[in-house]
Amino acid sequence: MSDITGECFCGSIRYQVKGGLHDARSCHCSRCRKAFSAQASAYAVVRAHEFSWVTGEQLLTSYVGEHGFGLQFCSKCGSTLTGVFKDQVHGVTLGCVNGDPKVSISRHIFVGSKAAWELIPEGVVQFDEMPPV
Ligand SMILES: [Zn+2]
Ligand SMILES: [Zn+2]
Repeated sequence: MSDITGECFCGSIRYQVKGGLHDARSCHCSRCRKAFSAQASAYAVVRAHEFSWVTGEQLLTSYVGEHGFGLQFCSKCGSTLTGVFKDQVHGVTLGCVNGDPKVSISRHIFVGSKAAWELIPEGVVQFDEMPPV
């Protein structure tokens, strides 16, 4: 399988993932809406050792919220590229992935607190909060 690549809007920062993306999900909670500046997050988990920055890492800036989970974004264009947990890359935002990473969003979570203006298409797998384990 060829490497998955991703980059920010201005193209200054690029990364690659050797191996696949996992557990692609979309969270509609109010915090994710703000973090992703969108109706929901679109995010997939990576294995930290399979992820590497190709170029522009020095342009990254980050915001770490409560619980130690943070996001890294491009200081030039503002794209959010990765999620970090305890200084390790935890996952990538699907919006910055190039091409087809061969995953699809398998679950929409916290749909119970979605924005009033969002219409959820019929047929998507959705949960009001976290899905049962
Ligand atoms: Zn950028
Ligand atoms: Zn959320």
